[in-house]
Amino acid sequence: MDRAPINSSYKVVVVEDEADIADVIVYNLEKEGYEVISSGRGDEGLNIIRREVPDLVILDLMLPGIDGLSACQQLKTDELTRDIPIIIVSAKVEDSDIVIGLGLGADDYIPKPFNTRELVARVKVALRKVGPVRQKDDDYRMVFDELVVDSERHEVTVSGNNLKLTVTEFRLLQQLAANPGRAFTREQLISRALGEGVAIVDRNIDVHIVSLRRKLGSAADMIETVRGIGYKFSPN
Ligand code: CA
Repeated sequence: MDRAPINSSYKVVVVEDEADIADVIVYNLEKEGYEVISSGRGDEGLNIIRREVPDLVILDLMLPGIDGLSACQQLKTDELTRDIPIIIVSAKVEDSDIVIGLGLGADDYIPKPFNTRELVARVKVALRKVGPVRQKDDDYRMVFDELVVDSERHEVTVSGNNLKLTVTEFRLLQQLAANPGRAFTREQLISRALGEGVAIVDRNIDVHIVSLRRKLGSAADMIETVRGIGYKFSPN
């Protein structure tokens, strides 16, 4: 049975204009094995986040370009990025900013100066809530009405009928179903579900989705096209 790891490293984007602080955050998160991309500007950071759709964002509030609260608001109102946890890291310690940030959907708030061990601990807590934790767990069974995705047996059934899926179709379904309601871009599906180093011929996600939907039959509607983005899993 093919048990190749899917994607074991979390991607974190750090938006922080104070280079010393950004360096400390990047250093400590890379030490944890995360892939870290940093930006010193709010507008540039937003572009990077929209392009990369990371697993976590660490966001300063006082930033050139676009301030952190506006960036937070934009991320939380965009379907592509709204599920990404955001940790606000800022020297602005007025209660109102904390309240506004959390009200906009930020997941946590760490005042500066902070202890790096605390930062790493809070990052781990935030990452525990995101999907990829489940991607690494090969031994689970997901049930959505008539559809059962059994990762341990590498088996998919619809109303008890065993579907003959290709490895690619299985991984796509596994990735989507493990994160119901979350939209994935084609690029994300390629890197997360198929892994790096996949043959070019295998990279046409749409072809695999068409085939997967056809095999799913009555459960085909659970794989929804998100216009301008890609696909998401929508159980009934
Ligand atoms: Ca700043």
